[in-house]
Amino acid sequence: MPVLVMKFGGTSVANLDRIRRAAKRVGVEVAKGYDVIVIVSAMSGKTNELVGWVDETSPLYDAREYDAVVSSGENVTAGLMALTLQEMDVPARSWQGWQVPLKTNSAHSQARIEEIPPENIRAKFAEGMKVAVVAGFQGISPEGRITTLGRGGSDTTAVAFAAAFEAERCDIYTDVDGVYTTDPRICDKARKLDKIAFEEMLELASLGAKVLQTRSVELAMRYKVKLRVLSSFEEQSDEAGTLVCDEEEIMESNVVAGVAYSRDEAKLTVQSVADRPGIAATIFTTLSDAGVNVDMIVQDISEEGRTDMTFSCPTDQVVRAEQALLAIKEKGELNYAELLADRNVAKVSVVGIGMRSQSGVAAKMFKVLSDEGINIKVITTSEIKISVLIDRKYMELAVQALHDAFELHKTG
Ligand code: ADP
Ligand code: ASP
Ligand code: MG
Repeated sequence: MPVLVMKFGGTSVANLDRIRRAAKRVGVEVAKGYDVIVIVSAMSGKTNELVGWVDETSPLYDAREYDAVVSSGENVTAGLMALTLQEMDVPARSWQGWQVPLKTNSAHSQARIEEIPPENIRAKFAEGMKVAVVAGFQGISPEGRITTLGRGGSDTTAVAFAAAFEAERCDIYTDVDGVYTTDPRICDKARKLDKIAFEEMLELASLGAKVLQTRSVELAMRYKVKLRVLSSFEEQSDEAGTLVCDEEEIMESNVVAGVAYSRDEAKLTVQSVADRPGIAATIFTTLSDAGVNVDMIVQDISEEGRTDMTFSCPTDQVVRAEQALLAIKEKGELNYAELLADRNVAKVSVVGIGMRSQSGVAAKMFKVLSDEGINIKVITTSEIKISVLIDRKYMELAVQALHDAFELHKTG
């Protein structure tokens, strides 16, 4: 039997009614003759609640216990989905990550999938089970402890299963009907794309478009998984939603494919460090050892042998960063004047493969922001994207102005 992977995000399993609706969609595919692997998220809001409880109990938590707590939301929805399917006379069974087993490394809270042996689930399919419902977002480490795959990780669970079972397709059911030129919740002119290239989706995801977890796009690209994003709230045809595919499959495209944003960014400046070899290495090794995910980095020009080092990281990692840098200052391993933290910044990025061959995108982006009176604090670029850090209060305005200026509401 051909295998299909169907993933339902938090809003698609938010209550028993929605679970029933999702189960009906699964039933349609079973009736077509597929063996279906359903990946479920926790009910919407659940993971945030669990993370909140962990933070309140222990601000600098032990990541193994964080995983034990936050992985639990998916266990509930997996069991409920299997029960709902059974009530519809569809033979179904639920699986937690460790039961599959979905093997990961030991990087708790950000674990990477290493292997999904398909034998257990295949044996059940061979016995007549039609649907394997798998709890997304979770796995098991070599030490036998529960791990999680980072926020949004159920997308990655889904694509990894599609690769391991050579599924015909991996359908990601969510609360929007596809991938848009930008988040339709903050820009009403956002346009749904029928297709988007893997590389553009990868950049958009890594720059904050949470419709797909970055790692899921990487895996789909590597294992050539046919990946589709579609709505769980509408009747669906086989052409619905957005197909994430190779660049060659897309006939027309704009220079800029989309605008992404990341709201919860912080900017930290280590003031007046010595301008000599080894200082950047000391700062960023310390931050990495403390589990801080540094994104943008700028080093100012030096004056009298001293310079400022600025970097960005997620707002919820500022305390970790501050503590780690203070600790090495106190040990005499790094000498700096002051550590300044600005927690009110956001990152806005434009992404497009067309930028490889067309110049002027950066100039246009900066002009648009300046016309809106928005000051740019940090800039980074790569071959197919330009990102800026700005005051958070201008984030929506910046996204909308850039969407207009690059005419993303029109097809290329
Ligand atoms: P799920 O719970 O189904 O995994 P998520 O909340 O993780 O859903 O992702 C879907 C959300 O992603 C949408 O509701 C939308 O607000 C947001 N989003 C951000 N950027 C985009 C984009 N470019 N296209 C579509 N949705 C986007
Ligand atoms: N429930 C997890 C989260 O909210 C994983 C997911 O839904 O993809 O991040
Ligand atoms: Mg998600």
